[in-house]
This record gives sequence, structure tokens and C-alpha cells, in this order.
Amino acid sequence: MDRFPFQRTFAALALTIAAIAGPAAQIDPRAALLERGAWEALNAGRVREAADAFREAIALDAKNARLRLGSGMVAMLERRDGDARGEFERALALDPKLTQARMMLGQVQRRLGDFNGAIRTYETLVAQRPDDRDAQTTLERWRREAELHDRMQQAIGSHFTVSFEGPAEAALAEQALEVLDRAYWRIGLVLGGTYPNQPVPVVLYTGEQFRDVTRSPSWAAGAYDGIIRVPMRGALDNPTELDRVLSHEFAHALIRNLAPRGVPAWLNEGLATALETGDLAWAEKQVGAQPKPVPLRALQSGFGKLTDDQAQLAYATSALAARRLIEEAGGFAIANLLRDLGDGVDFDTAFLHRIQRPFAEFATPNR
Ligand SMILES: [Zn+2]
Repeated sequence: MDRFPFQRTFAALALTIAAIAGPAAQIDPRAALLERGAWEALNAGRVREAADAFREAIALDAKNARLRLGSGMVAMLERRDGDARGEFERALALDPKLTQARMMLGQVQRRLGDFNGAIRTYETLVAQRPDDRDAQTTLERWRREAELHDRMQQAIGSHFTVSFEGPAEAALAEQALEVLDRAYWRIGLVLGGTYPNQPVPVVLYTGEQFRDVTRSPSWAAGAYDGIIRVPMRGALDNPTELDRVLSHEFAHALIRNLAPRGVPAWLNEGLATALETGDLAWAEKQVGAQPKPVPLRALQSGFGKLTDDQAQLAYATSALAARRLIEEAGGFAIANLLRDLGDGVDFDTAFLHRIQRPFAEFATPNR
């Protein structure tokens, strides 16, 4: 699992703001037109165009808080999180009542690892919008998470820090560090000798804590959102499963390190699954039982909303495609493909350049 909760709510939010960004009291009609076009572009997912339009509009109408909000949302989509935070703060300085900017600020603070800052921002948000159930629920979840993390202890290795709740889990944390260290070298080598540039945080939860904090579907065995989060229920009795889940989530960490954005779900989940320990016989069986293969183009966005069966097939299809890519193109080429995607290169262009064949051709192998 690799989820960005922010992106799920994003489209809806952009629409809401576009609606309020009507012909308000604007000084310059050109700025008003640019703003309208910018929100439309953002809604349609034309991020570059939106970025340009917001920038031009800000040059004409520097005191418009909504423009700063839009510009921050663009930065967040492009994973320029530091810039995004600056824009949301400027928006709020211009208009402290622009609660959408406060919500986005809280989200980006979390993504930047400022968990306490995010809680303070949401405390203000909830005070401003007492009827906002979503904000209230989110704030409560973040507070529970913070309390839990305050109680936790840490085991620190050279490439990972593992947080866990009590002395009973200390042995498991040590075991997790060992497993992660093996995954670090093994997977880094497969991906052309790339390694994360700083220690990766890992948190071990009980099953209930895991679901509460990550809101993952019930079939998820782990999650990565900048922190590797793993429920430890049963893991001690089943070292194979611990190895599998930690390898999978570490692969996500490495992929994110190479490409903070732009990676289709089939490639992200496929690599993470293909790079788990163990073979892919289960995936071959799953895919072989289907009358027709699932096209990779249908597996572009996250699997979080799929049912158990759909998810199994999506992971199986993706894993086999990723394995084929590793065999045909090698880890160096894949690492370069990921870097290009992270730099904002269009997927088909990057694929053709790095893998040396059109994606359409790779996606429909002879069968
Ligand atoms: Zn995953």
C-alpha cells in the first residue's frame, strides 16, 4: 500500500474553491479571468497550465488569498511541499478566514513531518468550522497518533529507526531492523544501486492502531506514507510474513525516494510486490485464471478502494508486469525511468527513452 490521502480529497476541494472563486471583488478583470482559468485547469488536472495561470494572476493581484491557495495546491501536487506550505501561510496572512488554506496547510505540514504543527493548524480549523465533521475526525485521529507515538520507544539502526510501543515488542523491533537491513541491500541493488538518502522511519502498531492511523482497507498488511507503518499482529509467529511486508514497504520508500510523484500504481505496487521475498507463483495462478488480462492502463491510480478480490488481481497483474520489466530492462533502466517520472517527464516519453520500447508494446505482450 502506498497512499496519499490528500489526493483523494483534492479534486473535490478544487471544485469547491473554484465555485467560490467567482466574480468576487477583484481589482483587475484580467486577474479574475486568469484565476478562473487557473482553477479550471487545476480541476482538469492540467497542473502546469494552472501553475502558470496562478503565477500570472498573482503578479496582477498580489493581495488575493485564493490565488496563494491555488498556487500552494499546485505546489503540493508537484510535491514541492516546502513551497506549498509558504503559499498556504501567505494565503492565511492575507485572509485568516480562508479555511480551505488552513486545511491544506495542516495536510502539507504532516507531509513535511511537522505532526505537532499540523495538529495546531487543525485545532484552529476546527475552532473556525465547528460543524466540519471531517476536520474534527481527522484532528482526533492525529491526536491519538501523537499520544501513541509519545508512548513509543525506538530501536535505531544505520538505515532505519523502528518505533514500537512497549518492552514486549522490543524483540520484534530488533528482528524488524535485521529484516529491513537485508531488504535495504537486496532491493537497493536490484534497483541499480540506489539507496534512500536518510534513515527511513518505521512504526510497528497493533492491528487496531494500524487501521486507525492509516485508514487502510482490511486487506492491507502495511502502508508507506513517508513512514513505513506495519501492524505487528502475528508477525512474530510468522517471520516469512514480516520479511514480505517490510520488504514491500521498503521498496515503496525507495521508489518514493527516486520519484516523489508521477509513478503509476501498477509500477509502484508491482515493483514493491515483485521485490518482496518469495516467488510469484500465486500471481501467475491469479492472472492465469482470468479469461482476459487486466490492462496496465486500468491500474494507474491506487488500489485502496478495491475489494479484496480485485486488489489481489491488481497486485498480481502489476507484480508480473514489474518482474518482466526488471528482467527485460534491468534495475538501472527502471531507476532512471523513476527519476524521470519524479522530474515530471511524461510517462510514455520516459518509458520509451529509458526502456527503449513504447509502453503500448510492453503493455500488450504476445500471448
Ligand atoms: Zn504497496
